[in-house]
Amino acid sequence: MAEFDNPYVDEDPFVRAHFDCLDCGGKLWEYAIQGQMVCEDCRSVFPSEHVFDAQISHPAD
Ligand SMILES: [Zn+2]
Repeated sequence: MAEFDNPYVDEDPFVRAHFDCLDCGGKLWEYAIQGQMVCEDCRSVFPSEHVFDAQISHPAD
């Protein structure tokens, strides 16, 4: 994996995202460094863009 400057070095790398898991509906955490989201329940990992697209197409409410 390539080395790169980490802008989140002084921050928690996980940011609670305002999205639900596409598989189980659990809370997704954005893994900001890699542009991915991971579910805290089933540990599925999704590309952030995929989650954005899915949530826009199918709003949670
Ligand atoms: Zn899940």
